Amino acid sequence: PARGQPLLSVRGAVKRFGGLIAVNEVSFDVRAGEIVGLIGPNGAGKSTMFNLVTGAAALTRGEVHFLGQDVTGLAQRQIASRGMARTFQHVKLRPHMSLLDNVALGAHGRTRAGMLAAGLRLDRGEEAQILAEAHRQLARIGLAGRAHELAGSLPLGTQRILEIARALAADPVLLVLDEPAAGLRRKEKQELGELLRKLRAEGVTILIVEHDMDFVMKLVDRLVVMNFGSKLTEGLPAEVRANPEVQAAYLGG
Ligand code: ADP
Ligand code: MG
Repeated sequence: PARGQPLLSVRGAVKRFGGLIAVNEVSFDVRAGEIVGLIGPNGAGKSTMFNLVTGAAALTRGEVHFLGQDVTGLAQRQIASRGMARTFQHVKLRPHMSLLDNVALGAHGRTRAGMLAAGLRLDRGEEAQILAEAHRQLARIGLAGRAHELAGSLPLGTQRILEIARALAADPVLLVLDEPAAGLRRKEKQELGELLRKLRAEGVTILIVEHDMDFVMKLVDRLVVMNFGSKLTEGLPAEVRANPEVQAAYLGG
């Protein structure tokens, strides 16, 4: 897709949990080549929105379009296979596997969804190709030299970066990140920010759900702000920062 074209369009998204409206008529776009931040105080509906976008939860009403196609109601796996990769708020790496194998699982997830659970029964050519791709992704995040260390031995910040490499191994068009800066130290946040900027420069489009305002403000091209399930506003970081309603929501939240 050409730079600036909408990759993801959320239209009138609603999610109810019984009597509670977690997401209320939210619409926004993510365009090719940009980093969009989805922010808001605790309970605003960010994680729910993330789940609706990635197909982890079904919309009560509204639509999600990805790459010009309606993906509303598709399973997470089907959306992923169309080029949307996600990470998890809580690291989901396999701690007893090497960095390389963790990333290889990501590449494999895209090539043959479903075989992951069954173990890696691949022919040699396929396996070599996947390992080469995993190596390429490790190099991209600066961890090629540590390919054979165990994922569980890495500090949290590096595990988050490894998770991103695993997501990238599926060669996604859109990367959707759930609170990647949570729990990280200042220096780890800086490294993560640098990596995400580098990926953007390489043409990866990113939607980032984040609670840490300082982290997103420095990183994103545009922000969508949620509060009590609704979209409060959207705009450039400076506009959002100056918005009194946003300030009030964060102070009150
Ligand atoms: P955020 O990620 O912005 O903190 P969430 O999307 O997690 O917000 O939650 C939004 C609202 O929806 C909250 O009131 C939360 O308690 C509620 N909620 C989230 N998930 C569920 C669920 N599975 N069942 C019931 N209520 C939920
Ligand atoms: Mg959340």
